[in-house]
Amino acid sequence: MEKKVGAKVLPKKRENRGRRKGDKGHVGYVMCDNCGARVPEDKAVCVTRTYSPVDASLANELEKKGAIITRYPVTKCYCVNCAVHFGLIKIRAENERKSKTRLF
Ligand SMILES: [Zn+2]
Repeated sequence: MEKKVGAKVLPKKRENRGRRKGDKGHVGYVMCDNCGARVPEDKAVCVTRTYSPVDASLANELEKKGAIITRYPVTKCYCVNCAVHFGLIKIRAENERKSKTRLF
């Protein structure tokens, strides 16, 4: 395709457009666990943390006495707004945006 004379090339803010979809056509959606926003699966920030139903200090005490306390992995997905709010990801400066470091 020929480039039109005088056509502006719009700047790309991020190399991957903020997603990890690549050239895949379509991905499903997930709901943000904080605000309920509908977010594409590849854009959502998902974190898995272990959750214990027993209070941490009490759990330590019980484990010293030999009790076994099960911990459950809980995966939560957030939209970008909520992920920034909770400090999972940070807003990066323009020159740092394109570096491919792990965000969290
Ligand atoms: Zn959210």
